[in-house]
Amino acid sequence: MREQFTTNAINLKSYSISESDKIILMYSKEKGLIKGVAKGIKKITSKLGGRMDMLVANKMMLNKGKNLDTICQAEALNTFFNLRSDMNKLFYAMYCSEIVSNFGTENDPNSEEIYNLFYTFLEQISKASRKEQAMLSVLRFQLKIMDITGYSLELKDCVKCLKEPNSEEIYFSIEQGGILCKECAQDICKKVKIPNKIKEFLNTLLEEDFNVHTKYDDLATEKICDICINLLKNYIEYYSPKKFKTTQILESIR
Ligand SMILES: [Zn+2]
Repeated sequence: MREQFTTNAINLKSYSISESDKIILMYSKEKGLIKGVAKGIKKITSKLGGRMDMLVANKMMLNKGKNLDTICQAEALNTFFNLRSDMNKLFYAMYCSEIVSNFGTENDPNSEEIYNLFYTFLEQISKASRKEQAMLSVLRFQLKIMDITGYSLELKDCVKCLKEPNSEEIYFSIEQGGILCKECAQDICKKVKIPNKIKEFLNTLLEEDFNVHTKYDDLATEKICDICINLLKNYIEYYSPKKFKTTQILESIR
């Protein structure tokens, strides 16, 4: 008998391999990145159907193969339906899904944490009723996934002298991985000046749990969120093991 396994997984990408079959790249709760062949998926009669669409979470059953596993059953856990009727939300979700596929690994030791974070993010952005809310979910996701994968940002104290900056003049450095005080910033050439309010805002989002409602949920404007998403986008791209493709799509909704 063939060996089978079950796992909860979210679809990230798909590739055609023949006239009727596709390979689905997924992020699973138990094993991190996994690939599976969806046989007959391009036929109208396919029993897997819409469950193989991108950004759908399924409870999957796979047959272990020599080189590739085959998807034999999928039961939808969440289709994040409201993502699909809003272009902005969909683009943001595609971008975050690329972060997962770039930073996730096979047999990922952090798989459960990353899966849960990505699931919560998709649920939250799907439900968001205002653009600012959707953008806040993206920001939380960017900060938290970097934290889990070992690229955590230092947003409270200066990364060099480890003291809380005492002047309003604060800088952000991608290479240094966080904020710099006025004095320490003098020796660093690549840096951007950021307002103290932005530092406080991002630090609050990083420190609070994903679902915690902060004062910024009511205060954050589209403009501030956009500046911050872009700042973190550059940070994430710099440390990414793979090149990003969706960042151009992000530019189109700015
Ligand atoms: Zn310093």
